[in-house]
Amino acid sequence: MSFVAEFNALPVSSLVQKSLTTGAAAVRESLSKPRLTLPDFVHLISPAASEFLETLSQRSHRLTQQRFGKVIRLFAPLYLSNECINNCRYCGFSRDNAILRVTLSLDDVKREAKALQEQGFRNVLLVAGEHPKFVSPAYLEDCVRALHEEIPSVSLEVGPLETTDYRPLVAAGADGLVVYQETYDHGVYAQMHTAGPKRNFDWRLETPERAYAAGFRRLGISPLYGLADWRFEAISVAAHADYLLRNCWKAQVTISLPRLRPCAGEFQPLTHMSDRDLAQLVCAFRLMFPDAGLVLSTREPSRLRDGLVPLGITMMSAGSHTEPGGYTGAGREKLHQTVRGRIVELASGASEWAPVGRASPRAGLDATKPGGHGSPAASPRQNRITNATGQFDIADERSPQEVADLIRRLGYEPVWKDWDAALTA
Ligand code: SF4
Repeated sequence: MSFVAEFNALPVSSLVQKSLTTGAAAVRESLSKPRLTLPDFVHLISPAASEFLETLSQRSHRLTQQRFGKVIRLFAPLYLSNECINNCRYCGFSRDNAILRVTLSLDDVKREAKALQEQGFRNVLLVAGEHPKFVSPAYLEDCVRALHEEIPSVSLEVGPLETTDYRPLVAAGADGLVVYQETYDHGVYAQMHTAGPKRNFDWRLETPERAYAAGFRRLGISPLYGLADWRFEAISVAAHADYLLRNCWKAQVTISLPRLRPCAGEFQPLTHMSDRDLAQLVCAFRLMFPDAGLVLSTREPSRLRDGLVPLGITMMSAGSHTEPGGYTGAGREKLHQTVRGRIVELASGASEWAPVGRASPRAGLDATKPGGHGSPAASPRQNRITNATGQFDIADERSPQEVADLIRRLGYEPVWKDWDAALTA
């Protein structure tokens, strides 16, 4: 039975209600158990358990050190393309956003990877929008093969594929696949995904299982917090992780904790998740899944990231750029707009920001003017070297070395290489 069937039978809304009415006695009882089940997890994310945050933090800290040692693995996203055929209302790459787009050539990708390597990274996540014309399985295979010799751990976060399309990527050297469900709430999912193949909720939900069948041995899942109620998402992703651990047992499962960030399109979060909620959730995930990797990205500000490290985080991105070519400027001479799948060159001699046809590049970028979201001019980042539009603004702008230094000051060892991949290489 696939997770889709299990998920459809899961009464998530009633579990949320149960969580909201959980009392302190139930929290204590769950905390006393050596192994937690989903009903215990529901207790640990309750408002009542928020009063136990100190206890949760200490337990989570101890358990993480027992299972993972005092190390934090570092990785960087490498954006291959910001082309996309989907409209996801919360994403800067949505096809109807009049943004500056590009798909990196193989040489561009190698240049970006070399820059990351020089910064120390040996664990890279290749990210791309979903557009079969620009980001085909064959293109992805070429990218993985080109990088795998130099970078021991290459993972992918790209549009969902069939198992048969995943197999060549595994053979080329990709070892991890990350796919965010975005939201596990069917109603919100339908509202957020207004056009494109991503509208198929179940196809996306089964992606980790197809990836596992193809041979991926690291599976990353998550909702995007800020769309549906955070407890609804947390219970759903916990059920999903539990399913994967039971059914895809040769794989390591990682759970990310992304909260929405400003992006082109000016989408505003529909729900709120506080920093305290996030800290509580990190602890609840750790106590429920002692061996799962917990991933924190540069979406979160530096002070919060530093505070969450000792609680249970095992993997962090650093120095990230969410625009293709962001590390070296690769591909910036090929920037264009894409209208109905066709490339529209920017007017010759005109500024890259000048209107082209009916669509204005600024339309998607005004969101980034000072006080707005996502534009190069508006971004606090001063060192952008390409005008390709990013997927979202990052919050922690420190360099990889600064993040590594901070990790050391906290008493942890920054690890640039994924050791699972290193052992099987
Ligand atoms: S979230 Fe993914 S699929 Fe949706 S618009 Fe952005 S890149 Fe495309």
